[in-house]
Amino acid sequence: MSWHLKEKAQALLAEEQGTVRKDWGGRVAFGLVYPNSYAVGMSNLGFQTIYRHLNALPGVVCERVFLPDPEDVTELRRTGGVPFSLESQRPLTDFHMLGFSVTYEGDYINVLRLLTLAGIPLRAAMRRPHDPLVLMGGVCAFSNPEPMAPFMDVIAVGEGEELVVELIERYRGGDGDRETLLDALAAVEGIYVPERYAVAGAPGGGLAAVTPRAGAPAIVTKRRLKNVNAFETIATVKTPSAEYGHMALLEVGKGCGRGCRFCLEGQVYRPVRHRSLDALRETVAQLAKSGETRIGLVGACVSDYPWIGDLLKIVEENGLEVSISSIRADSLTDGLVEALARGGHRTLTVAPEAGTERLRRVIRKAITDEQIVAACDLVRAHGIPNLKTYFMIGQPTETREDVEAIPALAELMLERLRVPDPSGKPFGRL
Ligand code: SF4
Repeated sequence: MSWHLKEKAQALLAEEQGTVRKDWGGRVAFGLVYPNSYAVGMSNLGFQTIYRHLNALPGVVCERVFLPDPEDVTELRRTGGVPFSLESQRPLTDFHMLGFSVTYEGDYINVLRLLTLAGIPLRAAMRRPHDPLVLMGGVCAFSNPEPMAPFMDVIAVGEGEELVVELIERYRGGDGDRETLLDALAAVEGIYVPERYAVAGAPGGGLAAVTPRAGAPAIVTKRRLKNVNAFETIATVKTPSAEYGHMALLEVGKGCGRGCRFCLEGQVYRPVRHRSLDALRETVAQLAKSGETRIGLVGACVSDYPWIGDLLKIVEENGLEVSISSIRADSLTDGLVEALARGGHRTLTVAPEAGTERLRRVIRKAITDEQIVAACDLVRAHGIPNLKTYFMIGQPTETREDVEAIPALAELMLERLRVPDPSGKPFGRL
């Protein structure tokens, strides 16, 4: 193994708080792989949640693996090394299971790069009994798994909190035979075992038929967490290398009821499920007790959380500062912005997505210009110095007028923002 890469891994570990280290003896070794850089993976709450849940199981040791940086791939090739886990720096082939957590379709190619670098056969059909079982989870596994089907032994379709537990149970309950295990897994709701389906192509392209083999369901049903209060979704490991690495992230629920046409999160995490205020109260108190000073509330649309005012009060009562990942301009209220300002919020983010109201209606994000401008006024009225906005271009039915309306709207917003706040402080940045 390259000493340089080992030192690099140890430097990352030295910066972390909350790393889980477990002895491997007698445990199922699960390599949790994020097919992108350390910084991107560690900013992903879903990845962190699965790491936490797997390590909470006494019979499992879960270690993280990331895509090596480009210069590290060169180093691996130079030294004849292979990618390894962060915690114990073991090669991927030492693990019983490798679970790829895939958030972006652009990372599909990185999954294949990692398998190749690790010396694991790319195609599931070519794997040998001693190879790790290769799994895919994450939002791509339930939005578009099929491109990865030839390379995966198992695809976890849906929310992973319960699924990983059942997966481990089946693995531990098996006799070590790979085929028997795949049969057992194919019968679990939400588990897709691509090898258990015969796919017939149609002349000229496309699919003629997909036929399940014995024991596999004709349709794999997406798994949804029924009781979101049963599982805490919080970041386990804090690191300054991650986006939001300086705060404790806490998910307030899953799904969004708004149904904007372009939004994957609003589609695949349906139905919307909110964690109860009591469950969040308990978690916030625990985080405060453990010495956290700032909390990041995360969810598809946090400002739609029905008890957001009460939740912000709880955060404040626990002496924590607060940050919110996503706010809709049409659900901003005076009380909400005031509470965010009191909680130390320095930048508020809203996403108009399009420059004109017409295009916003087309994409089903029907926020009006008036609501956007009102959001600017609220920001200044409560002394929040910065506002961040998101716009997209290249949307269906878009015209030149829609695109030109983006800078025009930004100008209008700036006019409202460039005023001193009640204490006389100037506006920061849009
Ligand atoms: S409100 Fe936000 S999270 Fe909800 S569907 Fe629209 S873009 Fe997605």
